Amino acid sequence: QNNISQVLKNLNILDLNPAYSTGNQWGASTDAKILDSNSPVDAKKIAGVKVATIENYEVVVKKAEEAYLFWRSLPAPKRGEIIRQFGDALRKSKEDLGTLVSYEMGKSLQEGFGEVQEMIDICDFAVGLSRQLYGLTMHSERPSHRMYEQWHPLGIIGIISAFNFPVAVWSWNAALALICGNVCIWKPSEKTPITAIACQHIIAAVFKANDIPEGVCNLIIGDKEVGELMTNDHRIPLISATGSTRMGKAVAVAVGARLGKSLLELGGNNAIIISEYADLDMSLIGAAFGAVGTAGQRCTSTRRLIIHESVYETFKAKLVKAYGQLRIGDPLDQHNHVGPLIDTDAVANYLNSIEKCKTEGGNFVVEGGVLEGPAYISGCYVKPCIAEVKNDYKIVQHETFAPILYLIKYKTLDEAIALQNGVPQGLSSAIMTLNLREAEQFLSAQGSDCGIANVNIGTSGAEIGGAFGGEKETGGGRESGSDAWKAYMRRQTNTINYSNTLPLAQGIKFDL
Ligand code: NAD
Repeated sequence: QNNISQVLKNLNILDLNPAYSTGNQWGASTDAKILDSNSPVDAKKIAGVKVATIENYEVVVKKAEEAYLFWRSLPAPKRGEIIRQFGDALRKSKEDLGTLVSYEMGKSLQEGFGEVQEMIDICDFAVGLSRQLYGLTMHSERPSHRMYEQWHPLGIIGIISAFNFPVAVWSWNAALALICGNVCIWKPSEKTPITAIACQHIIAAVFKANDIPEGVCNLIIGDKEVGELMTNDHRIPLISATGSTRMGKAVAVAVGARLGKSLLELGGNNAIIISEYADLDMSLIGAAFGAVGTAGQRCTSTRRLIIHESVYETFKAKLVKAYGQLRIGDPLDQHNHVGPLIDTDAVANYLNSIEKCKTEGGNFVVEGGVLEGPAYISGCYVKPCIAEVKNDYKIVQHETFAPILYLIKYKTLDEAIALQNGVPQGLSSAIMTLNLREAEQFLSAQGSDCGIANVNIGTSGAEIGGAFGGEKETGGGRESGSDAWKAYMRRQTNTINYSNTLPLAQGIKFDL
């Protein structure tokens, strides 16, 4: 706890009760509702934050509208330079911010540092991109005419994020949105507000050093109700929302009703196919890290293993042995593999899913349960468990955000691919095989239906260079690398006539 107090000081978190920030200005709320952030590591309260009121929200949106007029007129490479400095500031704060992520969210320290590294990586990517917001040129069918397309910013981008990647997801959105000329309003998860406040301090200091006005990067603290203010607000042309499919369906309806744009990054139900041609030792690391990393609380966590019948028993035995060696405990202690779930509601959900799985006929080869004792005082530490199931069990079709791994047996690759695709979600998928034909079939149009399909690596641990996101109930949005930046801009097609006449397209005649 002393260490955490020092981390908070290092991150300049002096005022722990703000409800919003427009950059360097922070505002308190008149709302009595306080959100406590308690660490799942040791149940200690980190701080209470206030929930923003509608009046607070209006202050933020007004500032963002004003700031947009300035920010959009700054040349993109100049915006990129500011993001370069933000990346440098993150490098300096990596240890403190990574530690706070680990303490507030409960992921291992290594993963906390990794999350900040992802923020740094997306800044580097965005800096280069700020000189590469390319549009196409086209040949006109009319003489002495030129056609091209260009990309303009949208305006205010609303970012709603989930607890499990409390800071990286914001930075994926913010870094791209900002270099594209947009301003941002971020509503972080109500479960992880303190890391968000830390990020806001870091970026605000960079803006101040560059005399950037208030309102370019805004933070608003609150729960679902504050999120709804954003999704219903026509002044926010794009809502980028990360979270559960339940949340995404509500956001899509609200934003769709006003014909706004939404970028949805929702739940996954990710599988690895372990083929008869797999390197089983390598598969073991991919499967175990995918299933127990972040205590099974990644959108890309491995939830299902689809294993060829000829290697099923051998692989199951290896997995059971590996699970016996897992060290569960304080995620800040680097010896531990598995930290806590985010809160006791998540624990109840985990226990409930185990019960449902048993009722449907699941056979647990590694039993679950909640750990007790002084090292597990928060009540959030659970045992990663493994059940043999059928793919069509209701509980298997559902994303349980906890370390429960399902084993399913297959005979042919066609059957394995059908099982892998046979869930409502479509985020990440993988095949472990040394057989080229199998790998290529898995990656073909007849293969995985997910946004991410890997060969000989697991389902989690994406790099920022690729477009990230998934199909079906995962929402269809893409963030991060490749051409994901286009979601944060509007395309404009331009035709310029430099002749002395005004010919109409398609040869239409119109004489006066
Ligand atoms: P959640 O859906 O409970 O909350 C996510 C965010 O949405 C929070 O900020 C919350 O306040 C807000 N919210 C909830 N309902 C809302 C509504 N009706 N209108 C506006 N905002 C609303 O999710 P969570 O428990 O924080 O996160 C876990 C989920 O997120 C998992 O399903 C996981 O798979 C998913 N996730 C997906 C990705 C991805 O990129 N696909 C990444 C991380 C997490």
